[in-house]
Amino acid sequence: MAVKTLIMATNNEHKLREIRQILGDRFQVMGLADIGCNTDIPETSDTLEGNALQKARYVADNFGVDCFADDTGLEVDALGGAPGIYTARYGSLNGYGDSHDSTANIRCILDKLKGQTLRTARFRTVIALVRDGREYLFEGRVEGRIVDQLRGTQGFGYDPVFEVEDTGLTFAEMGPDEKNRLSHRGRATEKLISFLSGNS
Ligand code: IMP
Repeated sequence: MAVKTLIMATNNEHKLREIRQILGDRFQVMGLADIGCNTDIPETSDTLEGNALQKARYVADNFGVDCFADDTGLEVDALGGAPGIYTARYGSLNGYGDSHDSTANIRCILDKLKGQTLRTARFRTVIALVRDGREYLFEGRVEGRIVDQLRGTQGFGYDPVFEVEDTGLTFAEMGPDEKNRLSHRGRATEKLISFLSGNS
């Protein structure tokens, strides 16, 4: 059986390693660096779906390859679904340090929710796949709540303040296997893999 090549529109080695482990030798997954794509791909949509599609299309159109891309957002009910597409930059957009600075993002969200009893939130990941010119979307979500004190030391981003529904644990209190099993990204990836497995 010929091994098919897919590009993941990312330079994040952690994401590439994770997807390669799951897909095994059925697909060869390469990152942007492997195809010489060094551009900052535009993400100008106002939805996760739009941004994921924009990235996957950009690579498919400019490099003539099949490609998938993901986009993730944290949606906090008391903030009307914010930060959403601004999740990575939420702190910096509100005067709390640099873009992609997790400490600043967490300080920002805790300040916004100070005194707030409605703490429910969810992480949502959308994966867009462009394959043989066709477009597909896969979504994964996990419900939870924003706790008011940081708990746990594992993971990244908002993990220390996101407590997963029905577990009593923040993502930062879980090992990687448990987090992958429950997480937004894990669930979206499962759907992608099940699709690829059925269509390979
Ligand atoms: P991205 O679309 O994967 O780059 O994610 C956007 C932002 O969401 C990241 O910069 C993180 O701050 C946050 N984020 C994504 N996934 C997670 C997660 O699993 N735990 C905590 N924060 C996350």
